[in-house]
Amino acid sequence: MVQEQLIPRGINDREVLSAFLKVPRHRFIPFEFINSAYADHPLPIGEEQTISQPYIVALMTQCLELKKGDKVLEIGTGSGYQTAILAELNCSVYSIERFPSLARRAKNILAELGYEVQAVDSGKGGIPTYSGLFNRVKIKVGDGTKGWPEFSPYAKIIVTAAAPSLPPSLFEQLKEGGVMVIPLGNKFSQMLTLVRKIEGKVKSENICGCRFVSLVGEEGWRG
Ligand code: SAH
Repeated sequence: MVQEQLIPRGINDREVLSAFLKVPRHRFIPFEFINSAYADHPLPIGEEQTISQPYIVALMTQCLELKKGDKVLEIGTGSGYQTAILAELNCSVYSIERFPSLARRAKNILAELGYEVQAVDSGKGGIPTYSGLFNRVKIKVGDGTKGWPEFSPYAKIIVTAAAPSLPPSLFEQLKEGGVMVIPLGNKFSQMLTLVRKIEGKVKSENICGCRFVSLVGEEGWRG
C-alpha cells in the first residue's frame, strides 16, 4: 500500500508514511472485506458508510501539516482508521461520529490496539464512558457539524464527510493560523479543500476532486 499507492502519488512526509506502516488497516475493516483491506479503494463499514481509500486518508493527513501534540478535531470517526493514524502521529484527537454503532466499534478497536482512548458519554444514549490511561483519543457520538466547543480551539480540523459549505461552528473552533481539510460540494462529487484561518478569515485552496459520504447534521446536509 505504501510503496504502490502512497509514495508514487506524492505522499512524502516520512512521519505520515511511517504511521501508515504501523497502523494495521485490516483491523478496521469488516471481516467480509478483509482480503481487500489494503486495496486502492474505499470499503463499506456498515450504516451505509465507508472507510476512505488509503491514498485519500494519507493525502488529508499530509495536508494537515501535523506537529507533535497538535489538538485535532475529527468529524466522522467511521472505522477509526484515520483516528489511529492521527494518534500515531502523536496528536491528541477529539473525534465525533453520528452513528453510535460505528463509534463503539472504533473505540473498541483503538483500545485493543493500545491507543489511549476515552468514549465521552454525550448523554444521548451514546457509548458508555471508558477511560484509558492518558486519553489521547476522545470519541463521542453526536452531530459533528457543531464541533466540540468544550475543547476548542483546535490546531487542525479534519472532516471526513462531504459538506455543502464550510460549517461556521467548525471554522469558529479552528485556532488562528490553523488548518482544516474538508470535502466541499454536492452529494455526488466534491472538492477536497484546505482552509486556513488567517487573521480570522477563510483562506482556501483546492486540493483535488473527491467523493465522500454526506456530512449529515445541522450545519451540513439535513438528512
Ligand atoms: N474517517 C473515516 C471515514 C468514515 S466515512 C474512516 O477512516 O473510516 C464518514 C463518517 O462521517 C461516517 O461514519 C458518517 O457516519 C460520519 N458522519 C456524517 N455526518 C456526521 C456528523 N454530522 N457528525 C459526525 N459524524 C458524521
